Amino acid sequence: MFFRRRDRRQYLAHKEAARALVHARLAQHNQYYQLPIRKVFIKNLKSRWGSCSERGNLNFNYKLVFLPSELVDYVIVHELCHLREFNHSPKFWCAVAEVLPNHRSLRQALRTIERRRPVVVRSIFGSLMNDY
Ligand SMILES: [Zn+2]
Repeated sequence: MFFRRRDRRQYLAHKEAARALVHARLAQHNQYYQLPIRKVFIKNLKSRWGSCSERGNLNFNYKLVFLPSELVDYVIVHELCHLREFNHSPKFWCAVAEVLPNHRSLRQALRTIERRRPVVVRSIFGSLMNDY
């Protein structure tokens, strides 16, 4: 019981840290894109770092707080660009490249982290798979 309560407290602390991080980075990158952001949710997503709904709501995984900042920015910019292009078309990737010309290597680094993360981190991340 003690551990479960502590885990819950840690989760909520990480979630609030993720919320602050996501809002700060969204605000920063949206100075460039100037897209209409609707609601932003921070969730314990099982298989994604983030997602964008057709209504224009953005969802982010609280586990972003465990990523290096350049990879957080990649996920943020990726979802932000879905507000402009709701697909993974060449136009979408052009929009990403406007702010992150190195997006391919960032995407690769994200995949590498998922594969190579140590056991302890793997238990936090669970089995992440994504479309990045
Ligand atoms: Zn996407």
